[in-house]
Amino acid sequence: MTSRTIPVAEFDLVIFGGTGDLAMRKLLPGLYRRDAAGQIPAHSRIIALARTEQDTAAFCDQARASLHEHLDQSECDAALMERFLGRLQYLFNDVTNAESWDQLVTVLDQQPEHVRVYYMAVGPSLFGVIARGLAGVGLHEGNARLVVEKPLGHDLASARSLNAEIGAVFSEDRLYRIDHYLGKETVQNLMALRFANALFEPIWNSNCIDHVQITAAESLGVGSRGSYYDRAGAMRDMVQNHLMQLLCLIAMEPPYTFEADAVRDEKLKVLRALKPIQGRDALLKTVRAQYRAGEDSPSYREEAQNPDSTTDSYVAIKAEIENWRWAGVPFYLRTGKKLRARFTEIAIVFKEPTHSVFAKVTATPVVPNVLSIRLQPDEGLQLQIMTKDPGPGGFRMHDTQLDMQFSAGRSDDWRMPDAYERLLMDVVRGNQTLFMRGDEVEAAWGWIDPIIDAWESIGQEPEAYEPGSRGPMTAMEMLARDGRRWREIEK
Ligand code: NAD
Repeated sequence: MTSRTIPVAEFDLVIFGGTGDLAMRKLLPGLYRRDAAGQIPAHSRIIALARTEQDTAAFCDQARASLHEHLDQSECDAALMERFLGRLQYLFNDVTNAESWDQLVTVLDQQPEHVRVYYMAVGPSLFGVIARGLAGVGLHEGNARLVVEKPLGHDLASARSLNAEIGAVFSEDRLYRIDHYLGKETVQNLMALRFANALFEPIWNSNCIDHVQITAAESLGVGSRGSYYDRAGAMRDMVQNHLMQLLCLIAMEPPYTFEADAVRDEKLKVLRALKPIQGRDALLKTVRAQYRAGEDSPSYREEAQNPDSTTDSYVAIKAEIENWRWAGVPFYLRTGKKLRARFTEIAIVFKEPTHSVFAKVTATPVVPNVLSIRLQPDEGLQLQIMTKDPGPGGFRMHDTQLDMQFSAGRSDDWRMPDAYERLLMDVVRGNQTLFMRGDEVEAAWGWIDPIIDAWESIGQEPEAYEPGSRGPMTAMEMLARDGRRWREIEK
């Protein structure tokens, strides 16, 4: 079985911030791969725009070096590389300079019928400036789409004003808010698993599910992103977007169709049903922590170059959804830097069988079923079930992992597509299903803000945790109080 490549219309993709880390590490490699797969139409162009003073030839040298760094060497074919680089154009431009838009108009007007995609690979303070700049020269009209990415606000008020700024130029049906977690194959498989199989949906509720754990652990510290991260912290950088989107996909009701607004309506209902965490409740239902220095590694405060920082590099939350399906089923979320391993997983932990028929014949305890959806390091699904050890005599059992390999049945050179490949082509196609709507982003902030306010009003200092550990003690205690434990952060 090979991947199917769906044709897309001819397009011009303008990357504002085309020399930056996001463009070099994610966007260009994703586009190269789509080009190699034959999905990019012959006359489509990628126009990088940034503040570095250089010409297209110099930009292509930079792009070539970066592609060699970020692609597997087996993917770097000389002819494909030259064809891809031939699509690139570079414009030296400062978007805050009102006169600098004419150059872009000239280039884009060469292909007026192309779908136009504007990707904001710049900081959010420039989103409004760019949207207004495009409108000022009429480049926002027709087939034009705007793509933005986190951080989408710092709190509810700033998210609203960001939505209003870009929404004044681009209507909601032409706005694409990326959360790259939604572009991951495993996350889409979670939806296939739930809504394309008769097996899971009947047990996907509080009758059969004990609790859910969502973990996004990083082994690295904040490193060179220290000054940005120190203004955000784990709560704003990870929980408000990625973890809450994953929570929505697990908890949402089946949409009536797999189309953008039907899916997004259901996600929004989940966000609105989240039980608020306010005031001293935050002490019981949330944990915030910061990594301390290790034997040979600096502390968070040293890396962030802020000796008094109280920013969280780790957060754990017990979230509860107040609706019929999920009453009494906690969703435990945790994310942190400098933990034991780089590991992202959603675990659906089922209830134990109501009666163990094996209790009198075997000492083996029955372990609950767990459906684990692994996002990294290796994307895949596993179902933990109890099985009998083979052989005569006795009845010994153990828990077995039923591995649902995505690569099974695929050709040897099959590769898991990167999230950006999928999402970029979805923008060109005009498919918003895997993108966040403005009201979702605001609803997520509406739940997060009171927690941050509570931390501030209680004056809760972050707890220190060991680098390379499983996280702070208080997070272990939070689950222990409920008679549960976190799943292992696997190396
Ligand atoms: P970066 O600093 O590496 O790159 C910024 C780019 O913007 C550069 O190309 C720079 O020339 C350009 N730029 C800045 N001011 C400009 C101006 N006035 N006119 C024209 N160009 C200008 O940043 P980055 O890491 O690529 O991140 C860009 C944005 O994407 C940030 O908001 C970041 O939070 C977000 N983001 C980045 C990543 C990532 O993996 N790097 C992931 C998700 C979101």
